[in-house]
Amino acid sequence: MRRPITISSKPTFLRLYKALYKAFGPQQWWPGETPFEIVVGAILTQNTNWRNVNNAIQKIKQAGLMDPMKLHAHYRRIPALIRTAGFYRSKAKCLRAFLKYYIEKYGARTEAFAKKGTRAIRKELLSIRGIGPETADSILLYALRRRVFVIDAYTRRILSRHDIIEHDLPYDVLQQTIQKNLPASRKIYNEYHALLVRTGKEFCKKNEPLCNACPLGTMLPRA
Ligand code: SF4
Repeated sequence: MRRPITISSKPTFLRLYKALYKAFGPQQWWPGETPFEIVVGAILTQNTNWRNVNNAIQKIKQAGLMDPMKLHAHYRRIPALIRTAGFYRSKAKCLRAFLKYYIEKYGARTEAFAKKGTRAIRKELLSIRGIGPETADSILLYALRRRVFVIDAYTRRILSRHDIIEHDLPYDVLQQTIQKNLPASRKIYNEYHALLVRTGKEFCKKNEPLCNACPLGTMLPRA
């Protein structure tokens, strides 16, 4: 990693956020016409890029199945419909498990699902096979509009390269640390995650980060 430019003051979570927001503006996340579509996207996006996920989502829509009851009734079609999203067998199982939970517990009604407390829903989501903390928190933040920060590989990479966090902190510890150091704002959590993903994809590559072109290039810690 090249470290060509330095600054004197320590970067903070908020300073990084402000710099990214200034550079990129609002990211309008998460794409999805309904909370259910956002849940489907959050499950499918594990270990793949959004283009592949979007492809799968369009296939589900074209089949007229972007509805929990209909998708559950036609669950055998799920693997073929989501094939482009990769790991389609395990994702189909996860999607089916979510549908079962959502229908049995909430009658597939968003209002009933959304009434429950954040901790309780998170616990329930994490009990579904295939749903980990990142997916559960994406569902909470983007589908249910709860104030939870989503941690992903880009978050770890960018913040640790800027010496703001240690890379291998456990998920929950990192999430609490970030939340404590940011204003308690769902909008900021929403935007920050989206901005980190964009920065990670465009500049903060795993092996060869493009620091000279990156909006955070002037905020790198001294070597
Ligand atoms: S976020 Fe940008 S400046 Fe920071 S390490 Fe990654 S590429 Fe370099």
